[in-house]
Amino acid sequence: MIDHMFGKITLSIIKPDAVKKGYIFPILYKIIHAGFHIIALKMTELSKKSATKFYAEHERKLFFESLVKFMSSGPIISVILEKENAVKDFRVLIGETNPVYAKKGTIRNLYATSLEKNAIHGSDSNQNAIKECLFYFSNREIFF
Ligand code: UDP
Ligand code: MG
Repeated sequence: MIDHMFGKITLSIIKPDAVKKGYIFPILYKIIHAGFHIIALKMTELSKKSATKFYAEHERKLFFESLVKFMSSGPIISVILEKENAVKDFRVLIGETNPVYAKKGTIRNLYATSLEKNAIHGSDSNQNAIKECLFYFSNREIFF
């Protein structure tokens, strides 16, 4: 079980735009340099069905259909990251959702293409972090 990691883990996705542009390693380097430990990692692809499920909270938004299409448009890297205050610290590291507003040096500032194609995902709460980790990984794929 990963429940005992509550507050110490977050789920990240290197999105299809960043994978296509060859940013996997520069992004992972920045993440590790910021003090996060990788406890699970995989390259995978979302079907439209699983992208719909993953982003269910946004299903009534105008951008939803396009987001689902984008997130299932190519390979992604999903990663479980461990650090004290992982969720909050990681959101700082990636920057604002809209790269136009992302602070200089943040991952979205450096590698995002647009508001939709913003290079990377980070969980928004400790509870969602656990839920999202278990969306991509089974317990035996997570190495503490
Ligand atoms: N998104 C979009 N248009 C918007 C808002 C969000 O295309 O107006 C996309 C973007 O890829 C974002 C994802 O939907 O990362 C999820 O949105 P959320 O508000 O949860 O932002 P995040 O938590 O990723 O910063
Ligand atoms: Mg979000």
